[in-house]
Amino acid sequence: MEEESYKKYEGCTVNECENMIQRSLRTPMVKFLMEHMDKAGCKLGDNFIKAVNCEQQMGGGYLRGNGIVVCSNHMKIQDDVNQVVIHELIHAYDECRAANLDWSNCAHHACSEIRAGHLSGDCHYKRELLRGFMKIRGHEQDCVRRRVMKSVTSNPFCSETAAKDAMEAVWDICYNDTKPFDRAP
Ligand SMILES: [Zn+2]
Repeated sequence: MEEESYKKYEGCTVNECENMIQRSLRTPMVKFLMEHMDKAGCKLGDNFIKAVNCEQQMGGGYLRGNGIVVCSNHMKIQDDVNQVVIHELIHAYDECRAANLDWSNCAHHACSEIRAGHLSGDCHYKRELLRGFMKIRGHEQDCVRRRVMKSVTSNPFCSETAAKDAMEAVWDICYNDTKPFDRAP
């Protein structure tokens, strides 16, 4: 869903990516999120996160009932995998805690993308520098907005205008909702 971050990479094999997923499961942030999924009553199976080759330009995705996929061919380093796993786990967490979450509702989708973009560190300045964007004041939020728009406009239920309106309407609440973290990591 976030093509600019991955297109310059050659990518991994599914096997290499599976190993990186296993390693990501031992990082503090992923562990923390998994624990909170458990606490919220959403126990994740062993196969919850899978590596696959993706034809579309995206890092990964979360599919209701199907778990998380990481696009091995768009992953190069461990940090790429950690990033996708954390981002998608936040979507899974949101779905877990809100039984009525409706992905076809642009505001619901935008809210989860705002949280995932903010809390996963997708827009940390080091990663933005790698993408060729400069660090300037307010840049983190611009970056999150850009990535939210890219994801939500790919939702067949959300036009460009609907995505933008939804994002603006829920921005403050969702950007400041850092659960299960006390504050943005
Ligand atoms: Zn997302």
